[in-house]
Amino acid sequence: MPQRVSVLSGDPRLAQLIEFGRQFHARGWVPATGGNFSLRLQPDRIAITRSGVHKGELQPRDFLQVGLNGRLYAGDGKPSYETELHLMLYRRDGRIGCVLHTHSVANTVLSRRRPTIDLRGYEVMKVFPDVDDPERPLQLPVFANDQSMPQLAVRIDAGLRERDPGAFLLAGHGLYAWGADPGRARDRVEALELMLECELWTEGPVP
Ligand SMILES: [Zn+2]
Repeated sequence: MPQRVSVLSGDPRLAQLIEFGRQFHARGWVPATGGNFSLRLQPDRIAITRSGVHKGELQPRDFLQVGLNGRLYAGDGKPSYETELHLMLYRRDGRIGCVLHTHSVANTVLSRRRPTIDLRGYEVMKVFPDVDDPERPLQLPVFANDQSMPQLAVRIDAGLRERDPGAFLLAGHGLYAWGADPGRARDRVEALELMLECELWTEGPVP
């Protein structure tokens, strides 16, 4: 049986994710319980926000422990609906230590308009490990959204085998970005949200 008491309270990374929730909510990136956050606890186990919890008001008990096989090990409630996407990312790359998902205005609007998003000429692109020249485009894949998480996970896994810039978008839905630790994943989300907002401002309002 899963334990009802969080065994993660002493992990300083949990406090980081709780703080990111407050910051992201203040910026309008995780409205109305949207988004979800996870981190790797052990090679084959993660902590992930539970379903339906407001990201601006996270508590240690809002994180559940889930194995990479999908089994719930500890915590109260249901893991996030999109847990399967997080598990796919942790399974495909052992270096990933944290995955963050946001639903901002900029990432929602642009992912509905463009089949891929090429970001170019932004100084902030340097937080991505493969970008040493801001004039070379950072190509962000956009995948069609799907309510079947297992099917979506298979499709994204295949797409990332072709190109894996450390982040992707789901059309009309949101942004996923990851890193070796919470700080690096947060830096990527902040960089991408800045660039997507700049792209949206450059395009102007919908005609
Ligand atoms: Zn979502």
